[in-house]
Amino acid sequence: MTKADYESLLKRIEKNISKDAKDTQRFELPAVEITWEGKKTILRNFGDFPKALRRDTNIILQYLSKEFAVPAERVGEKAIFVGKRDPDDFTRLFKIYLKDYVECPTCTSPDTKVEKENRISFLICEACGAKSTIKGKYA
Ligand SMILES: [Zn+2]
Repeated sequence: MTKADYESLLKRIEKNISKDAKDTQRFELPAVEITWEGKKTILRNFGDFPKALRRDTNIILQYLSKEFAVPAERVGEKAIFVGKRDPDDFTRLFKIYLKDYVECPTCTSPDTKVEKENRISFLICEACGAKSTIKGKYA
């Protein structure tokens, strides 16, 4: 690799990083706090996520449980999952949830709410007023 190649690679990486940083600035997901107890993973601040995402606690729990394919139960602000999970596993799922169920596809605002009509869920954007269908089943 020549020096010029290397520099252009560095530039590309820098560009990607700053793009990611901008994306996450818009909406701040709470940091995942977990502890492991035996073969269980306890998400200590589970309660923060439905609040931040402005979605139903049970739906968020169901979503995580189904995606991890393990049973989960809620105890106060905590959620307990069977099996060992890394904080990154949770962060990844919350980011997907944010993208698929919370962000407006039109203007990418996270200020949205869900409305159901004839068992079909719609995402209503409070920023731009767009009404979009939600494809997933955890709305
Ligand atoms: Zn919008």
